[in-house]
Amino acid sequence: MHASRPLLPGLIEACHAVIASNADHLGELDRAIGDGDHGTNMKRGSEVVYAERDQLGSLPLPEALEKIGMLLVTTIGGAAGPLYGTLLIEMGRGLRAGRGNGVLVETLPQAVAAVARRGRAQAGDKTLLDVLYAVQRAVLKQSPPAEVAAYAMSAARDTISMKALRGRASFLGDRSIGHMDPGACSCALLTGSICRFLEE
Ligand code: ADP
Ligand code: MG
Ligand code: MG
Repeated sequence: MHASRPLLPGLIEACHAVIASNADHLGELDRAIGDGDHGTNMKRGSEVVYAERDQLGSLPLPEALEKIGMLLVTTIGGAAGPLYGTLLIEMGRGLRAGRGNGVLVETLPQAVAAVARRGRAQAGDKTLLDVLYAVQRAVLKQSPPAEVAAYAMSAARDTISMKALRGRASFLGDRSIGHMDPGACSCALLTGSICRFLEE
């Protein structure tokens, strides 16, 4: 753990870096089964949060998470903005409400459930939720960060063989099969980056 580096700004930097270096790839994935904007959407969101990282780092964690969530809703836009936004807003609210004894990862189940409600999606629909459920399972059985990251990437790879049932990719029906879901990919990349940061 980084003793000298404040946790939240460091995490924001790690997320910003992984999105910056993978934005083109996320765009390509979304061009195959969506409208091609997932990379630029995620980049826009991560840049706004990155610019605010010091200010966000000075807030109590629940407030900071809710604020990041709201920034993501408005700046990522599209389908992914409200979904990533909901995740963070609900984690913030969960912490504030003392859910899971104030342990951040214990707020995941309710936050992930809120994302599912928001997207009217479930496991197997070929969305970022498939990765969120894998992360939630791994975290709750207290897997070490490297393992959580591996489960997340494996869940993203599992979306390749799925048929999309939610979001733009669902318009393609069977033609969505054979491509990784862009949101699942961004979610796995972010998870990997967060886990590497927490391990350092
Ligand atoms: P848009 O589809 O509006 O262009 P993005 O390209 O930024 O938005 O995000 C697309 C990603 O959002 C998909 O790859 C999928 O993971 C996720 N997604 C889309 N619709 C839903 C939904 N209803 N429920 C859960 N996730 C969804
Ligand atoms: Mg898109
Ligand atoms: Mg779009």
